[in-house]
Amino acid sequence: MSAGPSFGPGGSARTTVSHPLERHWPSGGFAPCIRPDPLRPLQPDQQVLTLVPMSKLYFTYSAMNAGKSAILLQAAHNYRESGMEVMLWTSGHHAKSAVAEMGDIESRIGLKAPAHLFRAETDLFEAVLRRKADGQLDAVFVDEAQFLSRDQVWQLSRVGDELGLPVLCYGLRTDFKGHLFEGAAELLAIADNLREARTICHCGRKATMTLRQDASGEAVTEGTQIGVVKSDYVSLCRKHWRERVERHQPDRV
Ligand SMILES: [Zn+2]
Repeated sequence: MSAGPSFGPGGSARTTVSHPLERHWPSGGFAPCIRPDPLRPLQPDQQVLTLVPMSKLYFTYSAMNAGKSAILLQAAHNYRESGMEVMLWTSGHHAKSAVAEMGDIESRIGLKAPAHLFRAETDLFEAVLRRKADGQLDAVFVDEAQFLSRDQVWQLSRVGDELGLPVLCYGLRTDFKGHLFEGAAELLAIADNLREARTICHCGRKATMTLRQDASGEAVTEGTQIGVVKSDYVSLCRKHWRERVERHQPDRV
């Protein structure tokens, strides 16, 4: 059984405009302005817009394989199609080169876009500030946001609060041990807007947990948070995640 990402109804008011989109939108203030809701696909005629405050910090979280990267790339595409400029980021953890500044955001269904790589030492506020000084910038997207440090989440909050740009973060909530990632913990604590991208366990329940498994399909319960390829993970509901982990580790409390 498979299911695409689904979102509950948003709280924003919807409105319709009949004129072409203006290329440049007001920036720098805190008053709401008309811009596409970055979390909803636009209709083909691009006429449906949503009132969204300018500077929110968004966090869309899920277990593995919920299609977060595809949602991000679709939302970024919506911005660009409306004549707006976006800056994309993803984690440098899986980059082939330890010094590369650019990589790709890639979804399992084949969507792909170049993105800046953030690493432990990256100051995201400074990087976005420099990019904004170079020209138009309307939104910042961050994939693999679970790998952000606490400081980096706060840097992104300043992108919203001080630069007036929406920041849209996408990432896992917990690791394969069931513990919050650092970036996810801080985003859950301070983001203005939290959304869950849903995926389904084999039993049909919502999958909220990520299990790491070895080549023979056995649960892996030790090791670091980072460093295994995505195909070694499976998304499960909490009940089935616990059953698999306890089968491997019966004394687990
Ligand atoms: Zn289940």
